[in-house]
Amino acid sequence: MMEFVESDQLLGTFVPIVVYWVYSGIYVLLGSFENYRLHSRKDEDEKNLVSRRAVIKGVLLQQAVQAIVATILFKVAGDSGGVATERKASLVVLARQFVTAMVVLDTWQYFMHRYMHQNKFLYRHIHSLHHRLVVPYAYGALYNHPLEGLILDTVGGAISFLVSAIWEQIQLFTAILCYMGSNSWDLYALFA
Ligand SMILES: [Zn+2]
Repeated sequence: MMEFVESDQLLGTFVPIVVYWVYSGIYVLLGSFENYRLHSRKDEDEKNLVSRRAVIKGVLLQQAVQAIVATILFKVAGDSGGVATERKASLVVLARQFVTAMVVLDTWQYFMHRYMHQNKFLYRHIHSLHHRLVVPYAYGALYNHPLEGLILDTVGGAISFLVSAIWEQIQLFTAILCYMGSNSWDLYALFA
């Protein structure tokens, strides 16, 4: 149990869910300051085509799918006592992986979201569900069609996870080659 608690799996799977609800909860509380609201409470109640309860249920479902995919991904990537935990990553490496993952995920989501607006079929049958929230709730970011959640968030998250890990390996390999000098492409030198 302790191994699991301390593992990257816990951080990667459940921390994003906790952060999502805590962070959006702060905005829900800030919503009580009427003067600073972008939309009135009346608009929120009248314009939205979906109830708060349905939004919360939809988001929880989405997060359950994400947790399952993340668990599978960690198993495949060989976490829990594997290479990742044995090699303690430095803060610089972590920061680099974090930035890489953010850039990859944001780029993926931007273009997929844009395409869902351009493609009328996808908009009508999939993405319009997300825009039933005319006045967004802070916790409604992940409220969308299950297929959209899978493509934008779950697959996007998996891609950013893999790219940041692979990119780190490339960086490491490049660093080794640089350290060996510009004429060191001879792999023999690695073992000499
Ligand atoms: Zn949209």
